[in-house]
Amino acid sequence: MSEPIVVVGAALLDGGRLLAARRSAPPELAGRWELPGGKVEPGEHPETALTRELHEELGVIADPVERVPGEWPLKPPYVLQVWTARLRPGSARPRPLQDHDALRWLTPGELWDVPWLDQDVPAVREVAARWDVL
Ligand code: C5P
Repeated sequence: MSEPIVVVGAALLDGGRLLAARRSAPPELAGRWELPGGKVEPGEHPETALTRELHEELGVIADPVERVPGEWPLKPPYVLQVWTARLRPGSARPRPLQDHDALRWLTPGELWDVPWLDQDVPAVREVAARWDVL
């Protein structure tokens, strides 16, 4: 059996809010919200991939903080892992450059106001459960 390929998702936190990104493609995912991120390349560290993907997709400089416990299956061979992340001081504010057409900074009370991708729901639930220590 082939090894899983990790997709990293960022729980990007700023000022007590979590960034959610609305996908614009592919058609079957468009309109649903996700933790921004993408595939780890061969030989790449997941944390490096997280920073790279956030720069490509949102134009920001962000640093991973800690792994959110858990791993969630996507379409094989992909699995989703999530890190909390923070904008580096002086980074641009996020803007949708690739894959997304809207962004929202959600307070804890707004977390479930957006239709998350099904596969991101358990990851968002895990972030919510740990919110007080994030
Ligand atoms: O963004 P990218 O296309 O590299 O993502 C790879 C795959 O991982 C896509 O199929 C996407 O739907 C999925 N994904 C996900 N949840 C995320 C980020 C990506 O299901 N938070």
